[in-house]
Amino acid sequence: MSDPIIIDGRATAKQIRDELSLLVADLGTHGITPGLAAVLVGDDPASEIYVRNKSRACEKTGVHSEIIRLSGKTTERELLDVVIELNERPDIHGILVQSPLPEAIDEFNVNITVLPAKDVDGFHPDNVGRALLGRPGYVPCTPAAVMELLKRYDIDPQGCDVTIAGRGNIVGKPLMALLIQKAAGANATVTVTHSQTRDLADHCRRADIVIAAMGQAELIKGDMVKEGAVVIDVGINRVDDPKASKGYRVVGDVHFESVAPRCRAITPVPGGVGPMTIAMLLKNTIESARRTLTSG
Ligand code: NAD
Repeated sequence: MSDPIIIDGRATAKQIRDELSLLVADLGTHGITPGLAAVLVGDDPASEIYVRNKSRACEKTGVHSEIIRLSGKTTERELLDVVIELNERPDIHGILVQSPLPEAIDEFNVNITVLPAKDVDGFHPDNVGRALLGRPGYVPCTPAAVMELLKRYDIDPQGCDVTIAGRGNIVGKPLMALLIQKAAGANATVTVTHSQTRDLADHCRRADIVIAAMGQAELIKGDMVKEGAVVIDVGINRVDDPKASKGYRVVGDVHFESVAPRCRAITPVPGGVGPMTIAMLLKNTIESARRTLTSG
């Protein structure tokens, strides 16, 4: 096998941000600055980092961003009221409520309160349904990131056997919906595995494209992937590493060292799907702002 293509999410995300900056400049000529509001409830350190990274990417692209920090004691009613206020603000085109939320808050109630037109995370049932039906709407950012990477690296899933490892609502399920569409860049035959799947290795070995989204550090090993497969690693896991300056390192759901030599193409972690997820969030926010031009 020749060396695998290492799919560079950072470079692709930068390219997308550059493209988006042009759209932001065009919106500027109409007096519109796209605006994203991120609501952060509690003080989860990982969420703080995610939200800060999203906010930085906004700045780089000319998108206005606001972080609304609420205490961990915030009630569901209080959070819903904040969302409703954001729904009504004309300068905010995208709303995201960072998960995880405190246990007392039902995430579903939050998702259905965000206006579908500002639901740039694609979590509202209206947008979830649209993705399933193949209708225009907001697609969740991580599945959109995977589809965009495949497209930009000329990896056409048409007719391919794709195994998605993980049936989460944010990644696995929406990816399934996107990949099975009768549409260019999709048309795949999709298997979705989960925690009760009898033989994950068998499903992965049969796949032309393996997409790992389980949250299980380095579970997919080289002997679980067929020669020449494309492997997209969505997982983000912290594993202890006394040699690392922070005492841990970040790995995916794929054991890169053993899997990469067998692949046609593979995403690294970090530097693969992660940066692209943020680029897709910007894309959705700018798209929402552009829709205000046509909706008047
Ligand atoms: P989730 O907990 O909602 O879903 C995980 C799924 O994995 C579950 O459906 C579970 O059934 C399945 N699973 C667990 N063990 C399994 C096994 N042995 N075999 C097959 N399936 C198994 O998680 P999620 O929100 O979908 O996130 C999945 C991973 O992706 C996490 O590591 C998360 O950090 C990462 N993630 C990354 C990004 C990004 O931007 N790169 C964005 C979102 C999530």
